[in-house]
Amino acid sequence: MPIERPRGTNDYGPEEMARRRAVEGILQDAAHRFGFREVSTPTIEHLDLFTTKSGPGIVKELYAFKDKGGRDVALRPEFTASIVRFYLSELRNLPKPIKVYSVGNVFRYEEPQKGRYREFTQFNAEIIGAPALQGDAEVVALAIECLRSVGVRDIHVRVGHIGMLRAFLKLPPEDQGKVIHWLDKRDFTALKAELTRLGLERMAAPLRQYIELKGGPEVLDQGAKLLAGVGTEGFEYLRALATRLKLYGVEHLTFDLGVVRGLDYYTGMVFEVDSPNLGAEKQVMGGGAYTLAEVFGGEPVPQTGFAFGLDRIVLAAAAEGVQLPVPRLDCYVIPIGEPLRTKALETLQTLRRAGVSADIDLLGRGPSKNLDYANAIHARFAVLVGEAESKKRRVAVKDLDSGKQEELELEALITRALQRPKA
Ligand code: AMP
Repeated sequence: MPIERPRGTNDYGPEEMARRRAVEGILQDAAHRFGFREVSTPTIEHLDLFTTKSGPGIVKELYAFKDKGGRDVALRPEFTASIVRFYLSELRNLPKPIKVYSVGNVFRYEEPQKGRYREFTQFNAEIIGAPALQGDAEVVALAIECLRSVGVRDIHVRVGHIGMLRAFLKLPPEDQGKVIHWLDKRDFTALKAELTRLGLERMAAPLRQYIELKGGPEVLDQGAKLLAGVGTEGFEYLRALATRLKLYGVEHLTFDLGVVRGLDYYTGMVFEVDSPNLGAEKQVMGGGAYTLAEVFGGEPVPQTGFAFGLDRIVLAAAAEGVQLPVPRLDCYVIPIGEPLRTKALETLQTLRRAGVSADIDLLGRGPSKNLDYANAIHARFAVLVGEAESKKRRVAVKDLDSGKQEELELEALITRALQRPKA
Protein backbone atom coordinates (compact mmCIF):
# COMPACT_ATOMS: atom_id res chain seq x y z
CA MET A 1 0.00 0.00 0.00
CA PRO A 2 1.39 3.44 -0.83
CA ILE A 3 2.29 5.56 2.15
CA GLU A 4 0.15 8.68 2.39
CA ARG A 5 1.21 11.98 3.87
CA PRO A 6 0.00 12.65 7.42
CA ARG A 7 -3.48 14.15 7.79
CA GLY A 8 -3.58 17.94 7.68
CA THR A 9 -0.20 18.29 5.93
CA ASN A 10 0.48 19.38 2.34
CA ASP A 11 2.81 18.64 -0.54
CA TYR A 12 3.48 21.64 -2.75
CA GLY A 13 4.41 21.14 -6.39
CA PRO A 14 6.69 23.50 -8.36
CA GLU A 15 3.92 25.91 -9.48
CA GLU A 16 2.39 26.16 -6.03
CA MET A 17 5.78 26.47 -4.38
CA ALA A 18 6.75 29.29 -6.76
CA ARG A 19 3.57 31.18 -5.77
CA ARG A 20 4.25 30.62 -2.07
CA ARG A 21 7.85 31.83 -2.38
CA ALA A 22 6.66 34.86 -4.37
CA VAL A 23 4.24 35.79 -1.57
CA GLU A 24 6.87 35.14 1.07
CA GLY A 25 9.31 37.41 -0.78
CA ILE A 26 6.73 40.20 -1.04
CA LEU A 27 5.99 39.97 2.68
CA GLN A 28 9.70 40.04 3.50
CA ASP A 29 10.20 43.10 1.30
CA ALA A 30 7.32 44.88 3.02
CA ALA A 31 8.79 44.04 6.44
CA HIS A 32 12.21 45.35 5.36
CA ARG A 33 10.62 48.56 4.06
CA PHE A 34 9.16 48.99 7.57
CA GLY A 35 12.53 48.41 9.26
CA PHE A 36 11.89 44.86 10.49
CA ARG A 37 14.74 42.33 10.45
CA GLU A 38 14.53 38.57 10.15
CA VAL A 39 15.19 36.20 13.04
CA SER A 40 14.82 32.46 13.30
CA THR A 41 13.97 30.20 16.25
CA PRO A 42 13.76 26.40 16.52
CA THR A 43 10.81 24.41 15.24
CA ILE A 44 10.90 22.41 18.47
CA GLU A 45 10.64 24.00 21.92
CA HIS A 46 10.27 22.87 25.53
CA LEU A 47 6.62 22.20 26.21
CA ASP A 48 6.72 24.60 29.19
CA LEU A 49 7.12 27.50 26.82
CA PHE A 50 3.54 26.99 25.69
CA THR A 51 1.95 25.72 28.91
CA THR A 52 3.36 28.46 31.18
CA LYS A 53 0.85 31.01 30.00
CA SER A 54 -1.89 28.95 28.46
CA GLY A 55 -2.06 26.14 31.04
CA PRO A 56 -1.97 22.36 30.49
CA GLY A 57 -5.20 22.55 28.43
CA ILE A 58 -3.17 23.73 25.42
CA VAL A 59 -1.37 20.37 25.14
CA LYS A 60 -4.25 18.73 23.28
CA GLU A 61 -3.84 21.34 20.53
CA LEU A 62 -0.10 20.70 20.19
CA TYR A 63 2.20 18.15 18.66
CA ALA A 64 3.78 17.42 22.05
CA PHE A 65 5.89 14.40 22.92
CA LYS A 66 8.84 13.19 24.96
CA ASP A 67 12.21 13.24 23.22
CA LYS A 68 14.69 10.40 23.61
CA GLY A 69 16.05 12.00 26.77
CA GLY A 70 12.58 11.97 28.32
CA ARG A 71 12.15 15.77 28.00
CA ASP A 72 8.71 17.17 27.22
CA VAL A 73 8.93 19.04 23.94
CA ALA A 74 6.48 20.39 21.36
CA LEU A 75 6.53 21.52 17.75
CA ARG A 76 5.87 25.27 17.77
CA PRO A 77 2.19 26.16 17.23
CA GLU A 78 3.10 29.84 16.61
CA PHE A 79 6.10 32.16 16.87
CA THR A 80 5.33 34.66 19.60
CA ALA A 81 6.30 32.54 22.61
CA SER A 82 9.61 31.60 20.95
CA ILE A 83 10.35 35.23 20.11
CA VAL A 84 9.68 36.27 23.69
CA ARG A 85 11.97 33.47 24.95
CA PHE A 86 14.65 34.65 22.52
CA TYR A 87 14.08 38.25 23.59
CA LEU A 88 14.62 37.37 27.24
CA SER A 89 17.76 35.34 26.58
CA GLU A 90 19.45 37.58 23.97
CA LEU A 91 17.43 40.04 21.91
CA ARG A 92 16.83 42.31 24.92
CA ASN A 93 20.45 43.45 24.53
CA LEU A 94 19.66 45.02 21.17
CA PRO A 95 18.69 48.70 21.05
CA LYS A 96 14.94 49.22 21.38
CA PRO A 97 12.51 49.10 19.78
CA ILE A 98 13.21 45.62 18.49
CA LYS A 99 11.42 44.97 15.20
CA VAL A 100 11.69 41.40 13.98
CA TYR A 101 9.94 39.00 11.67
CA SER A 102 10.09 35.25 11.06
CA VAL A 103 8.65 32.89 8.55
CA GLY A 104 8.33 29.16 8.91
CA ASN A 105 6.13 26.18 9.56
CA VAL A 106 3.99 25.78 12.68
CA PHE A 107 2.00 22.77 13.87
CA ARG A 108 -1.40 22.49 15.50
CA TYR A 109 -3.44 19.39 16.18
CA GLU A 110 -6.62 20.68 14.52
CA GLU A 111 -9.49 19.23 12.55
CA PRO A 112 -8.27 19.76 8.97
CA GLN A 113 -10.45 21.40 6.30
CA LYS A 114 -9.87 23.80 3.39
CA GLY A 115 -7.45 26.48 4.61
CA ARG A 116 -7.05 24.77 8.00
CA TYR A 117 -4.11 22.41 8.28
CA ARG A 118 -2.06 20.70 10.97
CA GLU A 119 1.17 21.97 9.49
CA PHE A 120 1.08 25.42 7.92
CA THR A 121 3.33 28.40 7.34
CA GLN A 122 3.13 31.64 9.25
CA PHE A 123 4.71 35.00 8.60
CA ASN A 124 5.12 36.62 12.00
CA ALA A 125 6.20 40.14 12.91
CA GLU A 126 6.74 41.67 16.36
CA ILE A 127 7.73 45.00 17.86
CA ILE A 128 9.12 44.87 21.38
CA GLY A 129 9.76 47.96 23.48
CA ALA A 130 7.89 50.70 21.59
CA PRO A 131 5.20 52.75 23.37
CA ALA A 132 1.83 51.05 22.80
CA LEU A 133 0.22 53.50 20.40
CA GLN A 134 3.30 53.92 18.24
CA GLY A 135 4.07 50.19 18.18
CA ASP A 136 0.47 49.13 17.57
CA ALA A 137 0.02 51.57 14.68
CA GLU A 138 3.25 50.47 13.03
CA VAL A 139 2.29 46.78 13.32
CA VAL A 140 -1.26 47.25 12.00
CA ALA A 141 0.07 49.39 9.15
CA LEU A 142 2.62 46.72 8.23
CA ALA A 143 -0.05 44.01 8.19
CA ILE A 144 -2.15 46.06 5.76
CA GLU A 145 0.88 46.95 3.65
CA CYS A 146 1.73 43.23 3.38
CA LEU A 147 -1.64 42.45 1.82
CA ARG A 148 -1.56 45.52 -0.44
CA SER A 149 1.88 44.53 -1.68
CA VAL A 150 0.73 41.03 -2.53
CA GLY A 151 -2.17 42.60 -4.43
CA VAL A 152 -4.98 41.34 -2.17
CA ARG A 153 -7.47 44.27 -2.12
CA ASP A 154 -10.70 42.87 -0.75
CA ILE A 155 -9.91 42.87 2.95
CA HIS A 156 -11.67 43.71 6.20
CA VAL A 157 -9.51 45.06 8.99
CA ARG A 158 -11.20 44.67 12.36
CA VAL A 159 -9.77 46.20 15.51
CA GLY A 160 -10.86 45.59 19.10
CA HIS A 161 -9.48 45.81 22.62
CA ILE A 162 -9.26 42.77 24.83
CA GLY A 163 -8.01 44.79 27.80
CA MET A 164 -11.50 46.25 28.27
CA LEU A 165 -13.05 42.79 28.40
CA ARG A 166 -10.47 41.59 30.89
CA ALA A 167 -11.11 44.62 33.10
CA PHE A 168 -14.86 43.96 32.96
CA LEU A 169 -14.51 40.27 33.81
CA LYS A 170 -12.17 40.92 36.78
CA LEU A 171 -11.51 37.18 37.14
CA PRO A 172 -8.46 35.12 38.07
CA PRO A 173 -6.47 34.25 34.92
CA GLU A 174 -7.68 30.67 34.55
CA ASP A 175 -11.39 31.53 34.82
CA GLN A 176 -10.89 34.56 32.62
CA GLY A 177 -9.18 32.35 30.04
CA LYS A 178 -12.18 30.01 29.94
CA VAL A 179 -14.74 32.80 29.54
CA ILE A 180 -12.65 34.40 26.79
CA HIS A 181 -12.24 31.05 25.08
CA TRP A 182 -16.03 30.54 24.84
CA LEU A 183 -16.51 34.14 23.71
CA ASP A 184 -13.91 33.58 21.00
CA LYS A 185 -15.66 30.39 19.89
CA ARG A 186 -19.05 32.14 20.04
CA ASP A 187 -20.34 29.18 22.07
CA PHE A 188 -22.98 30.99 24.11
CA THR A 189 -24.28 27.84 25.82
CA ALA A 190 -20.84 26.99 27.18
CA LEU A 191 -20.28 30.65 28.02
CA LYS A 192 -23.47 30.79 30.08
CA ALA A 193 -22.59 27.55 31.86
CA GLU A 194 -19.16 28.91 32.76
CA LEU A 195 -20.54 32.24 33.97
CA THR A 196 -23.18 30.41 36.02
CA ARG A 197 -20.46 28.30 37.62
CA LEU A 198 -18.67 31.53 38.55
CA GLY A 199 -21.89 33.09 39.89
CA LEU A 200 -21.79 35.70 37.10
CA GLU A 201 -24.77 34.68 35.03
CA ARG A 202 -25.92 38.31 34.80
CA MET A 203 -22.88 39.04 32.65
CA ALA A 204 -23.96 36.65 29.89
CA ALA A 205 -26.35 39.07 28.14
CA PRO A 206 -24.13 42.19 28.13
CA LEU A 207 -21.11 40.14 27.06
CA ARG A 208 -23.00 38.66 24.16
CA GLN A 209 -24.23 42.08 23.06
CA TYR A 210 -20.76 43.50 23.50
CA ILE A 211 -18.97 41.04 21.24
CA GLU A 212 -21.52 41.64 18.53
CA LEU A 213 -20.68 45.36 18.35
CA LYS A 214 -19.05 46.11 15.04
CA GLY A 215 -18.89 49.29 12.95
CA GLY A 216 -17.73 52.91 13.13
CA PRO A 217 -16.70 54.96 16.20
CA GLU A 218 -20.27 54.82 17.54
CA VAL A 219 -19.73 51.21 18.64
CA LEU A 220 -17.05 52.43 21.03
CA ASP A 221 -19.65 54.50 22.91
CA GLN A 222 -22.06 51.57 22.90
CA GLY A 223 -19.30 49.28 24.20
CA ALA A 224 -18.46 51.70 27.01
CA LYS A 225 -22.13 51.73 28.06
CA LEU A 226 -22.37 47.94 28.11
CA LEU A 227 -19.22 47.56 30.16
CA ALA A 228 -20.33 50.34 32.53
CA GLY A 229 -17.94 50.82 35.41
CA VAL A 230 -14.70 49.83 33.68
CA GLY A 231 -13.98 53.27 32.27
CA THR A 232 -13.35 54.31 28.69
CA GLU A 233 -9.58 54.14 28.46
CA GLY A 234 -9.44 51.29 25.92
CA PHE A 235 -12.11 52.85 23.75
CA GLU A 236 -10.31 56.20 23.71
CA TYR A 237 -7.16 54.32 22.85
CA LEU A 238 -8.82 52.76 19.80
CA ARG A 239 -9.94 56.21 18.62
CA ALA A 240 -6.36 57.48 18.98
CA LEU A 241 -5.08 54.43 17.11
CA ALA A 242 -7.49 55.04 14.23
CA THR A 243 -6.34 58.68 14.06
CA ARG A 244 -2.71 57.63 14.00
CA LEU A 245 -3.36 55.00 11.35
CA LYS A 246 -4.81 57.70 9.07
CA LEU A 247 -1.28 59.12 8.98
CA TYR A 248 -0.24 55.79 7.47
CA GLY A 249 -2.96 56.09 4.85
CA VAL A 250 -5.17 53.51 6.58
CA GLU A 251 -8.74 54.76 6.24
CA HIS A 252 -11.00 51.76 6.39
CA LEU A 253 -10.94 50.29 9.86
CA THR A 254 -13.87 48.55 11.44
CA PHE A 255 -14.10 48.62 15.20
CA ASP A 256 -15.06 45.12 16.21
CA LEU A 257 -15.42 44.54 19.93
CA GLY A 258 -15.89 40.87 19.18
CA VAL A 259 -12.23 40.39 18.27
CA VAL A 260 -11.41 38.28 21.27
CA ARG A 261 -8.57 36.01 20.08
CA GLY A 262 -8.34 32.64 21.75
CA LEU A 263 -4.76 32.91 22.92
CA ASP A 264 -4.41 33.96 26.53
CA TYR A 265 -1.62 36.42 26.21
CA TYR A 266 -3.21 39.43 24.52
CA THR A 267 -3.79 42.33 26.88
CA GLY A 268 -4.54 45.43 24.77
CA MET A 269 -5.47 46.21 21.18
CA VAL A 270 -6.30 43.11 19.11
CA PHE A 271 -6.90 42.97 15.38
CA GLU A 272 -7.76 40.59 12.58
CA VAL A 273 -7.87 40.82 8.81
CA ASP A 274 -10.32 38.80 6.73
CA SER A 275 -10.39 38.03 3.05
CA PRO A 276 -14.15 37.55 2.54
CA ASN A 277 -13.49 35.47 -0.61
CA LEU A 278 -12.13 32.58 1.42
CA GLY A 279 -15.38 31.27 2.92
CA ALA A 280 -15.26 29.69 6.37
CA GLU A 281 -11.51 30.06 6.95
CA LYS A 282 -11.40 33.68 5.85
CA GLN A 283 -9.14 35.10 8.53
CA VAL A 284 -5.76 35.68 6.92
CA MET A 285 -4.13 37.39 9.87
CA GLY A 286 -4.47 37.94 13.59
CA GLY A 287 -2.49 39.89 16.14
CA GLY A 288 -2.45 42.34 18.97
CA ALA A 289 -0.67 43.80 21.98
CA TYR A 290 0.51 41.59 24.81
CA THR A 291 2.84 41.52 27.80
CA LEU A 292 4.38 38.06 27.73
CA ALA A 293 7.89 38.93 28.91
CA GLU A 294 6.61 39.28 32.51
CA VAL A 295 5.06 35.85 32.38
CA PHE A 296 8.51 34.38 31.71
CA GLY A 297 10.12 36.38 34.51
CA GLY A 298 11.27 39.44 32.55
CA GLU A 299 10.66 43.16 33.07
CA PRO A 300 7.35 44.40 31.71
CA VAL A 301 7.81 45.64 28.15
CA PRO A 302 5.18 46.56 25.57
CA GLN A 303 4.93 44.08 22.71
CA THR A 304 2.74 43.93 19.63
CA GLY A 305 2.74 41.30 16.93
CA PHE A 306 0.80 39.56 14.21
CA ALA A 307 0.89 36.35 12.23
CA PHE A 308 -0.29 35.79 8.68
CA GLY A 309 -1.23 32.35 7.46
CA LEU A 310 0.81 32.11 4.26
CA ASP A 311 -1.45 29.40 2.85
CA ARG A 312 -4.45 31.67 3.23
CA ILE A 313 -2.82 34.70 1.58
CA VAL A 314 -1.92 32.53 -1.39
CA LEU A 315 -5.56 31.36 -1.54
CA ALA A 316 -6.82 34.95 -1.16
CA ALA A 317 -4.52 36.13 -3.97
CA ALA A 318 -5.77 33.30 -6.20
CA ALA A 319 -9.41 34.12 -5.36
CA GLU A 320 -8.83 37.71 -6.53
CA GLY A 321 -6.98 36.61 -9.67
CA VAL A 322 -3.72 38.27 -8.57
CA GLN A 323 -0.82 37.54 -10.93
CA LEU A 324 2.11 36.75 -8.67
CA PRO A 325 5.66 37.45 -9.85
CA VAL A 326 6.57 33.81 -10.31
CA PRO A 327 10.02 33.27 -11.88
CA ARG A 328 10.04 31.49 -15.25
CA LEU A 329 12.82 29.67 -17.03
CA ASP A 330 14.31 32.19 -19.45
CA CYS A 331 15.72 29.88 -22.13
CA TYR A 332 15.28 26.27 -23.13
CA VAL A 333 18.09 25.23 -25.45
CA ILE A 334 17.33 22.71 -28.20
CA PRO A 335 20.04 21.19 -30.40
CA ILE A 336 18.76 20.62 -33.94
CA GLY A 337 20.28 17.19 -34.42
CA GLU A 338 22.83 15.22 -32.40
CA PRO A 339 25.98 16.78 -33.99
CA LEU A 340 24.94 20.14 -32.54
CA ARG A 341 24.70 18.90 -28.96
CA THR A 342 28.21 20.12 -28.11
CA LYS A 343 27.46 23.55 -29.53
CA ALA A 344 24.16 23.60 -27.63
CA LEU A 345 25.94 22.80 -24.36
CA GLU A 346 28.35 25.68 -24.99
CA THR A 347 25.40 27.99 -25.60
CA LEU A 348 23.79 26.76 -22.38
CA GLN A 349 26.94 27.53 -20.39
CA THR A 350 27.23 31.01 -21.87
CA LEU A 351 23.64 31.78 -20.96
CA ARG A 352 23.90 30.41 -17.42
CA ARG A 353 27.15 32.27 -16.74
CA ALA A 354 25.52 35.51 -17.90
CA GLY A 355 22.80 35.09 -15.24
CA VAL A 356 20.12 33.82 -17.59
CA SER A 357 18.20 30.79 -16.30
CA ALA A 358 18.64 28.13 -18.95
CA ASP A 359 17.93 24.45 -19.40
CA ILE A 360 18.64 21.93 -22.12
CA ASP A 361 17.18 18.73 -23.48
CA LEU A 362 18.52 15.82 -21.41
CA LEU A 363 16.52 13.05 -23.08
CA GLY A 364 17.71 13.34 -26.69
CA ARG A 365 14.24 14.25 -27.95
CA GLY A 366 13.59 15.67 -31.39
CA PRO A 367 12.99 19.44 -31.87
CA SER A 368 9.20 19.28 -31.93
CA LYS A 369 8.93 17.22 -28.70
CA ASN A 370 11.43 19.61 -27.14
CA LEU A 371 9.29 22.59 -28.09
CA ASP A 372 6.29 20.92 -26.44
CA TYR A 373 8.35 20.42 -23.30
CA ALA A 374 9.57 24.04 -23.33
CA ASN A 375 5.96 25.22 -23.56
CA ALA A 376 4.83 22.84 -20.83
CA ILE A 377 7.39 24.18 -18.34
CA HIS A 378 6.44 27.79 -19.31
CA ALA A 379 9.90 28.74 -20.57
CA ARG A 380 10.06 32.23 -22.11
CA PHE A 381 12.30 31.45 -25.10
CA ALA A 382 13.20 28.29 -26.98
CA VAL A 383 16.76 28.62 -28.26
CA LEU A 384 17.29 26.47 -31.34
CA VAL A 385 20.91 25.67 -32.04
CA GLY A 386 21.12 24.71 -35.74
CA GLU A 387 23.93 24.28 -38.24
CA ALA A 388 23.28 27.31 -40.45
CA GLU A 389 22.79 29.82 -37.57
CA SER A 390 25.81 28.44 -35.69
CA LYS A 391 28.04 29.23 -38.62
CA LYS A 392 26.91 32.87 -38.31
CA ARG A 393 27.49 32.72 -34.51
CA ARG A 394 23.75 33.07 -34.06
CA VAL A 395 20.83 31.08 -32.66
CA ALA A 396 17.17 30.90 -33.64
CA VAL A 397 15.08 32.25 -30.76
CA LYS A 398 11.39 31.49 -30.46
CA ASP A 399 9.42 33.68 -28.07
CA LEU A 400 7.06 31.11 -26.59
CA ASP A 401 4.49 33.73 -25.55
CA SER A 402 4.11 35.43 -28.92
CA GLY A 403 5.22 32.51 -31.11
CA LYS A 404 7.54 34.90 -33.01
CA GLN A 405 10.89 33.49 -34.13
CA GLU A 406 14.03 35.39 -35.09
CA GLU A 407 17.77 34.94 -35.41
CA LEU A 408 19.88 36.60 -32.74
CA GLU A 409 23.47 36.78 -31.64
CA LEU A 410 23.94 35.29 -28.17
CA GLU A 411 24.73 38.72 -26.69
CA ALA A 412 21.42 40.08 -27.95
CA LEU A 413 19.59 37.04 -26.58
CA ILE A 414 21.24 37.54 -23.18
CA THR A 415 20.22 41.21 -23.09
CA ARG A 416 16.66 40.32 -23.99
CA ALA A 417 16.43 37.40 -21.56
CA LEU A 418 17.67 39.52 -18.68
CA GLN A 419 14.85 42.04 -19.26
CA ARG A 420 12.31 40.00 -17.36
CA PRO A 421 8.73 41.22 -17.56
CA LYS A 422 7.20 42.35 -14.27
CA ALA A 423 4.21 40.26 -13.25
P1 AMP B 1 -3.34 32.64 15.05
O1 AMP B 1 -1.91 32.42 15.50
O2 AMP B 1 -4.29 31.56 15.48
O3 AMP B 1 -3.81 34.02 15.32
O4 AMP B 1 -3.31 32.51 13.48
C1 AMP B 1 -2.75 33.48 12.66
C2 AMP B 1 -3.10 33.17 11.23
O5 AMP B 1 -2.58 31.89 10.88
C3 AMP B 1 -4.60 33.04 10.99
O6 AMP B 1 -5.15 34.30 10.72
C4 AMP B 1 -4.63 32.15 9.79
O7 AMP B 1 -4.41 32.88 8.60
C5 AMP B 1 -3.46 31.24 9.99
N1 AMP B 1 -3.88 29.94 10.56
C6 AMP B 1 -4.25 29.68 11.82
N2 AMP B 1 -4.53 28.37 11.96
C7 AMP B 1 -4.35 27.80 10.75
C8 AMP B 1 -4.44 26.47 10.25
N3 AMP B 1 -4.80 25.46 11.02
N4 AMP B 1 -4.16 26.25 8.94
C9 AMP B 1 -3.78 27.27 8.13
N5 AMP B 1 -3.66 28.54 8.54
C10 AMP B 1 -3.93 28.81 9.84
